[in-house]
Amino acid sequence: MAVYCEMCGKQVPKLNKVRIDSTILNVCDDCSRFGTPADSIRSGRPEKTTGPQISVQMPKKSIPLPPVKQRPRKHKGDDVEKYQVDPDYAEIIRNGRERLAITQDELAMKILERRNVIASIERGVLMPEIKVARKLEKLLGVKILIEDE
Ligand SMILES: [Zn+2]
Repeated sequence: MAVYCEMCGKQVPKLNKVRIDSTILNVCDDCSRFGTPADSIRSGRPEKTTGPQISVQMPKKSIPLPPVKQRPRKHKGDDVEKYQVDPDYAEIIRNGRERLAITQDELAMKILERRNVIASIERGVLMPEIKVARKLEKLLGVKILIEDE
């Protein structure tokens, strides 16, 4: 059975239904690129569509995520300000305190905190709240708050 392209008249084994200038034509493969596949234009029929189908699903990527650098979590409640406490706060604070040659007790007194707060901070088990971090920065002359981007 011979079919002919409605555009160029060539005899082809199979025709493609395309829309060219708002007219549906049965054309050969060569001519079909001048139009858009008629099926993809809201034909209303849930038939198989020709042409590339846009998948809603994202291709599953199997790229493993790089290990996230561990970062102390911000305390809830005092994070209105966009600051993060430096992950090395424990070391920075201890070094700062030792530079001033004061004890944890003295440091605690100066910033009006309890000594075990200071001890926990220096052990890295307690992340100082922003306001405590500010006081420590000021007193010790160190930098432990980094601006969140
Ligand atoms: Zn043709």
